[in-house]
Amino acid sequence: MQQFPNPLLALNYLPAFAGLGEDYFDQVVAAKFPQHILRFRNDDLLPILGLPPAGVTDADFIEAFGKFQGLQPFLAMRYHGYQFGEYNSALGDGRGFLYGQVRGLDGELYDFGTKGSGTTPYSRGGDGRLTLKGGVREVIASETLHRMGVRTSRCLSLVETGESLWRGDEPSPTRSSVMIRFSRSHIRFGTFERLHYLGRKDLIRKLLDHVLEFYYPHLFNPEANERDRQIAYSQFYAELVQRVATLTAQWVAAGFCHAVLNTDNMSITGESFDYGPFAFINTYDLRFTAAYFDYSGRYCYGNQPAICHWNLEMLQRPLKAVIAIAEMEAALANFAAQFQAAYYQQMLYKLGFATPPSPDSEALVQQTLQLLQLTQTSYPGFFADLTQQFSPAWRDESERILNLADFARTDEQITCLKQWRQQYHHCLLETSPEQLDAMATTLHCYNPQVVPIRPYIEAVWEPIVQEDNWEPFYELLRQVKE
Ligand code: AMP
Ligand code: MG
Repeated sequence: MQQFPNPLLALNYLPAFAGLGEDYFDQVVAAKFPQHILRFRNDDLLPILGLPPAGVTDADFIEAFGKFQGLQPFLAMRYHGYQFGEYNSALGDGRGFLYGQVRGLDGELYDFGTKGSGTTPYSRGGDGRLTLKGGVREVIASETLHRMGVRTSRCLSLVETGESLWRGDEPSPTRSSVMIRFSRSHIRFGTFERLHYLGRKDLIRKLLDHVLEFYYPHLFNPEANERDRQIAYSQFYAELVQRVATLTAQWVAAGFCHAVLNTDNMSITGESFDYGPFAFINTYDLRFTAAYFDYSGRYCYGNQPAICHWNLEMLQRPLKAVIAIAEMEAALANFAAQFQAAYYQQMLYKLGFATPPSPDSEALVQQTLQLLQLTQTSYPGFFADLTQQFSPAWRDESERILNLADFARTDEQITCLKQWRQQYHHCLLETSPEQLDAMATTLHCYNPQVVPIRPYIEAVWEPIVQEDNWEPFYELLRQVKE
């Protein structure tokens, strides 16, 4: 066996996806880049891989995740997908590949997936590259979502690669990068959709068994008879519906608009990933649309639950080869209620309540949304202020609740704020003393003081462009994590 001094190359790579065989991927090679500058390394992730951060040098990162020396082969994953409602059979990893898979100390199987590592058979005339700004934005999105408790992929590294790229949506030429995404699988809804398109029921079933084995192990039993397998498949779909409903609720509560919820950007593990033109909302606006090319607002902030429901419905087409359609329809019928329950729970967390304080605490969520809608005050700012100003003494005196708030100006807004205070106070009265003490922690857990709305991202990008100053970017990441 080959010995690597580089701990990233010496990891115990597990060829799980590779084990499925050539029907699911193409072997590819990485591009050679003129330059390699490590701009971000995610030391928080190394312990999950059993690596002490101090034992991994920047040069190790560059060798493994910039120069791509050591491991082979790399797999460009094959998939199709519905993009803006239209089926596209010309997709697949066009600028990335599966670098390798490693089981974390937490027992989960993680993908190292590249983005920007060069062309593949699926590049469709594209350059296979990732802009540096695109890489910076994905790092910010995933670190923020993770901080807010959203089940998301993370970035393991970002290396600037010294090329000039031309893009319609960035001042060009613009700088290039290659990123390693750390995720629970890059198998997408679209991976199944492609197999349906090809009429390969056998490959759908094989892929489904793989998904169960590695990502839903509690449902996997290789010894099971046919009837028990069918039950497990149905349970898988029902669990996926629940996971996606929860994820969607987490996005909406976090004030996050993914922007491109095509079925090729939906993970079969229900994890959030692939951040392009995403945005965190500034003010509460259900119609807010993040992608400039989303002319109809299909993927607007408030439409995310409906779109995820639609995506799950489309997934029934390939899965009906192996799962009874009636069972899937019954599971999907629960989506709206599951989303609502998860959304209320997430919003109550953001309001500081780890458990619902009273049977009518949903009314507090409604009142909060009404206040945010009516005043158009900063969505992240409202929760950051609540977190900073919260005091258990609010229980004794309702007038003190968020008494520094200056966003209610009109009579209607002032009335709404008063009603909100009453609701909040009512919930505090229903809260036990122990819970009251825990509220500051809950508030802090779900509400960072800084949420990177677009102007903040632009403000850290500008010094990078102007003077190659990366300090504001690192500072933003520190603040988000606080
Ligand atoms: P995305 O919008 O990043 O989810 O990508 C959608 C599809 O376009 C995927 O098949 C990508 O691999 C492909 N793609 C996006 N950008 C590029 C590029 N610069 N070069 C080649 N393929 C790309
Ligand atoms: Mg994608």
